Amino acid sequence: MNSIDKLTELFAQFPGIGPRQAKRFVYYLLYRNNGFSNELTQAIKDLNKEIMQCEGCFRHFANPPAGGGHAAKLCRVCADPHRDNSMLMVVPRDIDLEAVEKSGSYKGQYFVLGGSLPILEKEPEKRIRSKELEVRIKKGLKDGLKEVVLAMNANSEGENTADYIKEILKPLGLEISILGRGLSTGAELEYADPETLRNAFLHRTK
Ligand SMILES: [Zn+2]
Repeated sequence: MNSIDKLTELFAQFPGIGPRQAKRFVYYLLYRNNGFSNELTQAIKDLNKEIMQCEGCFRHFANPPAGGGHAAKLCRVCADPHRDNSMLMVVPRDIDLEAVEKSGSYKGQYFVLGGSLPILEKEPEKRIRSKELEVRIKKGLKDGLKEVVLAMNANSEGENTADYIKEILKPLGLEISILGRGLSTGAELEYADPETLRNAFLHRTK
């Protein structure tokens, strides 16, 4: 395989990028000067070096934070002593956590599942962090956790994921609520505006 095909194949693995678009990226790199390729290569290397995964919510964050400071194991949200430990919001991806955080309507803790479950998924625990979620919730129960808010995308995968998690959480005797009313069918959290997210949270169903 030549390097054009190789790089095309890699770009095509990005979400939402098809082979034709991937090839356009490659030709764009060839069209730009070497400086751009070098900057891109360096940025990817830095990403792997500087970005940590939070031990609390599993999101990725820059470490050490801009402006110096010690290496942290927890992200800014998880390390904040003023957050409400009685609530844990479960979101599919980092970007969803950021969207909810930006809406400013939620002050509890988060857990990032790492994806969602397609219907009839045979190995759910390999697709999402369901085991880690159980561990996180059992730990949370000791810190006053009372409610788990399932914030899934408003599509069939999101519903399927919520059903799966509800089953796991059933024996733990927690209140489980669903973020959803106010999110139109098919809506992804990532693209919901702050006002919609705020309403979806305030009108979550229990
Ligand atoms: Zn965190």
